[in-house]
Amino acid sequence: MIIIMRPDATAAQIGVVTDKLKKHGFGVHLSQGAERTVIGAIGDKSAIQLEALQMLPGVSEIVPIRKPYKLVSREFQKEDTIVALPGGVKIGAGEKLVIMAGPCSVEGEQAFLEAARAVKAAGANVLRGGAFKPRTSPYAFQGLGEKGLQIMAQAREETGLPFVTEVMDTRDVELVAKYADMLQIGARNMANFNLLREVGKTKKPILLKRGPGSTVQEWLMSAEYILSEGNKQVVLGERGIRTFETATRNTVDINAVPVVKKLTHLPIIVDPSHGTGEWDLVPAIARAGIAAGADGLMIEVHPKPDEAMSDGAQSLKPETFQELMVSLRGVARAVGRQL
Ligand code: PEP
Ligand code: MN
Repeated sequence: MIIIMRPDATAAQIGVVTDKLKKHGFGVHLSQGAERTVIGAIGDKSAIQLEALQMLPGVSEIVPIRKPYKLVSREFQKEDTIVALPGGVKIGAGEKLVIMAGPCSVEGEQAFLEAARAVKAAGANVLRGGAFKPRTSPYAFQGLGEKGLQIMAQAREETGLPFVTEVMDTRDVELVAKYADMLQIGARNMANFNLLREVGKTKKPILLKRGPGSTVQEWLMSAEYILSEGNKQVVLGERGIRTFETATRNTVDINAVPVVKKLTHLPIIVDPSHGTGEWDLVPAIARAGIAAGADGLMIEVHPKPDEAMSDGAQSLKPETFQELMVSLRGVARAVGRQL
């Protein structure tokens, strides 16, 4: 349930309510909005008499949250969450869109630096690259591990752009968090609840990709795991789901963008690279994502896609990425956003 405090409620009155809730075993989460404070109480409602709570000074209203996810719901927090990355990058902050770009995998120092310079020149504001790769085959390239993280840190130094990278294992969270500005939970790990709890304990922003076989509700429940550990800096990533359609690698659920905007205050980005699996389809779906209201995009870019160690077929060459960025400007403007 949520307890909505009166606009004139004092800090002491809020304190009395939260203490009472904690005494009855509730997890308490405060959301201090511009107009009012909302207290989220997660726990067994029968443990407390709601009428008694209603009578406390400063309490305006008690509202049950019927959805299974609480902290991520719009009911709990009306205002959009803004996820901040170093370098002044803000995801979900009004007009400004965030473009994350780079190769699927970090393959080596020169190749990554080349890609990083190219995407920066085209206007990207976050670098992406995989050091720990979730591959379908155990015999495929698995990533450079810590060396890959060091290369991305070097590219950050040179370009000034923060970077996002995937963490696949609870045992690597500390290591990846030591280097990265944002931790990615990949589609295959969306429902790895131990991993979600572990990244929820860090203070790093999280990019939570949607599992290819997961509903929006399951995806939001996974986000709830992260928020319930105290980390509210979560961005959702729609990267396509598996449907009966085999013409493309996945099917981007464009509906999910406005649906998510309605249900949660968390920002959402679209990944047309994994969503389509084919580089020549990426620009159209990137534009569609922005038109639908996404707060940004994640796009794979490789200086030589035909030599890429993973996902070459869906990677844009730097020139194509540059052209896409130009065409995105018009779409962004049409929907009241900017690059
Ligand atoms: C990736 O971003 O390289 C990746 C593996 O994405 P996903 O988890 O969406 O497949
Ligand atoms: Mn990839």
